[in-house]
Amino acid sequence: MAFILPQRWRTGRFGPHGTIAAWPGKLLPDADGPTRVTLTTLCVFCGSSDSVDPAYLAAAADLGRLLAERELSIVYGGGRTGLMGALAQAALAKGGRVVGVLPRFFDTPALAERSLSELELVDSMHERKARMAELADGFIALPGGFGTFEELFEILTWAQIGLHQSPIGVLNVQGYFDPLIELIEHAAAQGFIYGEHRQLLQIESEPGALLERMTAYQPAGDLARWVDRRSEPG
Ligand code: AMP
Repeated sequence: MAFILPQRWRTGRFGPHGTIAAWPGKLLPDADGPTRVTLTTLCVFCGSSDSVDPAYLAAAADLGRLLAERELSIVYGGGRTGLMGALAQAALAKGGRVVGVLPRFFDTPALAERSLSELELVDSMHERKARMAELADGFIALPGGFGTFEELFEILTWAQIGLHQSPIGVLNVQGYFDPLIELIEHAAAQGFIYGEHRQLLQIESEPGALLERMTAYQPAGDLARWVDRRSEPG
């Protein structure tokens, strides 16, 4: 079964394999310094649970407001519960643009946020993730559960194999992701994750600092190494 990539990722070149992604993000030369990424639309992955410390909900709302203030569009899973709802409602209240991409089977009054700038209904979870990735030029994970982990790791995996070069950030609210970061460091120390791939993940505890880091993100030069199976340089 063929995996269908978004149209704009089907062009370009990837080493000997003949396929890479045209990069959805844009690198623009900066007059006074290093090249910086221009972000326009951020995809946010985050928890749908309401049964969490209110500090997590507040952090999602803070991020939503910040993105609205910076006139950055949000793409997310379209839910109204948990951090998803807090993020979307706070951004909308600040006049932000929020696009939800929701599987039809989640389109219920209990789950779907109906007041979004746009709500796209899709037929499957896979279609939803491909569509969210297609719309965004950067990705942020907030605290969440299995769904959030899965979305974060899939977009990291796509970066690892060169399907995109967009920045990926984690908002490490109250150290929520510390055990996950420890696991990633462990996997890298054991040789399961290449050193340069560890750098694919930007981690900050404050939304403003995270956006700054993502904007300054420079993709590592030789991400095709995973596909080529070459050993660590030097
Ligand atoms: P979780 O972290 O397990 O709560 O899953 C949250 C992530 O999975 C979100 O980023 C969504 O894309 C998706 N998701 C899970 N539950 C829902 C829901 N009730 N409504 C919309 N999206 C959901």
